[in-house]
Amino acid sequence: MVDLKSQYEKIKSEVDAGIQEVIDNTAFIKGPQVKKFETELTAYLNVKHVIACANGTDALQIAMMALELKPGDEVILPAFTYVATAEVIALLGLKPVMVDVEPETFCINVQLIESKITPKTKAIVPVHLFGQCANMDAILTIASKHRLFVIEDTAQALGSVYTFGDRSKKSAGCMGTIGTTSFFPSKNLGCYGDGGALMTNDDELAKKLRMVANHGQAIQYKHDCIGVNSRLDTLQAAILLAKLPHLDAYAAARHQAANIYDQLLGNHPKIKIPARNPQSTHVFHQYTMQLTGVDRDTVRKALADKGIPSMVYYPIPLHQQKAFYNPDYTDADFPVTVELCKSVLSLPIHTEMDEEMIQFISNNLLELVS
Ligand SMILES: *Cc1c(COP(=O)(O)O)cnc(C)c1O
Repeated sequence: MVDLKSQYEKIKSEVDAGIQEVIDNTAFIKGPQVKKFETELTAYLNVKHVIACANGTDALQIAMMALELKPGDEVILPAFTYVATAEVIALLGLKPVMVDVEPETFCINVQLIESKITPKTKAIVPVHLFGQCANMDAILTIASKHRLFVIEDTAQALGSVYTFGDRSKKSAGCMGTIGTTSFFPSKNLGCYGDGGALMTNDDELAKKLRMVANHGQAIQYKHDCIGVNSRLDTLQAAILLAKLPHLDAYAAARHQAANIYDQLLGNHPKIKIPARNPQSTHVFHQYTMQLTGVDRDTVRKALADKGIPSMVYYPIPLHQQKAFYNPDYTDADFPVTVELCKSVLSLPIHTEMDEEMIQFISNNLLELVS
């Protein structure tokens, strides 16, 4: 699905030099590269604060801890997302309240959010799924009307830019109260292990986030709140410093690959190519299409037999997962999510694809569905 080896070969000297510098200095924890990466990502995103942490799941947890959400508080999230989003909500004793997604963008359906708000609702967690932003105009309006926090899960959309109704633009993860992201190797900005970060424009909250990520201390051995131990390794920071200058070129390469897929696959009646939110750039973390009138899993297996990888993100809706069992939920509450879980298929998309590869994949797929 990705080709991290070829990507590395092209920036080998920068990455290797960065890694060697960390080893030479032996500042493996909280080395200067961590601060430097935070500063550079802050500038790239045009946000006031970036706080690095150990992974994208921790970032979500740290966000909710710093906002002092209390057991029983309700947090609204899309039913069609990676498990991490719902997991940390439940882990903190908060109640995940799932909302169906939009059939076109696969992001949270903003028309359905208000019906789920109760006096206990404290936050909305939109997920900028597969590389493009959720409808942030509507989400921020609802949040301010009901005084809710907005935590943007930006693990799949770092570098995506949203254009508001008034034509102003902001980066994904920098529009709400807090943004969270992941540097898992296959993410658009991936390190060579685990990594994550939080973004905010709020000075006080930035201090609190940093404190929570560091055992609840701002001053060593003075613990003012319960925190966690969640750090970005210095080695990972050095790798990210080498990769960040390439992030826009990586997004452009993914975008170009998506355009070619669109051209080749866009006219087939059984294939629905991914829709693009006109208000957001798409950084194509995934190229996720829908198959109709054919059995998705049979097609996937036949592709695999030809040596073509594909993935189903996500095969089971969150409300059907045993871990999130809630007798109040039925499939009828999430018709779009249920349908997507049956019909979506993500094709290989990454920074190292050439037209020939995309043609090979597309031709095989077209043959299999016709
Ligand atoms: C990858 C991902 C996460 C979690 O990131 P990790 O770094 O693997 O913990 C959270 N949310 C979404 C939407 C993701 O895709």
